[in-house]
Amino acid sequence: PGDETIMADQTFSVYKTNANIEGAVSIEVPLINGKHDLPGMVNVITDKTKIIWVCNPNNPTGTIVSESELVSFLDEVPAHVMVVLDEAYYEYVTDASYPASIKLMERYPNLVILRTFSKIYGLAALRIGYGIGQQEVISLINRVREPFNTGRLAQVAAKAALKDQEFVAKCRQRNAEGITYIQQQFDRLGLSYFPANGNFIMVDVQNPGTEVFKLLLSKGIIVRPGFEVYPSYIRVTVGSEEQNKAFIGALEQVLHEVNSPA
Ligand SMILES: *Cc1c(COP(=O)(O)O)cnc(C)c1O
Repeated sequence: PGDETIMADQTFSVYKTNANIEGAVSIEVPLINGKHDLPGMVNVITDKTKIIWVCNPNNPTGTIVSESELVSFLDEVPAHVMVVLDEAYYEYVTDASYPASIKLMERYPNLVILRTFSKIYGLAALRIGYGIGQQEVISLINRVREPFNTGRLAQVAAKAALKDQEFVAKCRQRNAEGITYIQQQFDRLGLSYFPANGNFIMVDVQNPGTEVFKLLLSKGIIVRPGFEVYPSYIRVTVGSEEQNKAFIGALEQVLHEVNSPA
């Protein structure tokens, strides 16, 4: 209780929820154009700061911070503050400026990296992921985590999934094609969006996102609305070619309906 933790004002909600459960204070730093404001996060560090969360790519905006931006930031963060890089969408990223984060751990022992089998590997229901950190940090986590770890079946599946990098490459490629298609369609419709680096795109539908969500739902398309900082945006997951086309068709109809009411 009373410890401070720093995160973006629109990021993965679990960080704040868990900080609240522990009685910690969440300091939320506004994103700039959907992107982490790393210098702004450095500015709010105090003696009470324990953890800074950097979700990269950021969920829900999909933006990334580059290796050079991350390094400049890590150079400014005092050693007593842990920096947690949440790389749940790591395997989807194709941008060459994306950090090779594991290599940075030698220089910055306060860095912890989180990855998961829930996203590109498609094993969300098996509940397995991993963290990478200094031995001392992992040892401390082991002392406070619940005594039973991941299940045996999940571990077998995760090891098999790691071996199948052909599948991962295929998913990354199809996802990149999907992003290109959807972004071209948004351009055609005159909608602005954040540059997507995960398997989802956040787009400004220029109407209440919750309203567009309901209308899309009635056409069988489920997207995510309701972002406090971006009420006119929805987040849509990249699907198959057929699904992406169906989404664009439905969105076009919905926007026509809301923009020209009967
Ligand atoms: C999905 C996700 C996770 C991890 O999910 P698990 O299924 O619990 O492994 C972590 N961070 C972000 C940003 C995510 O989107």
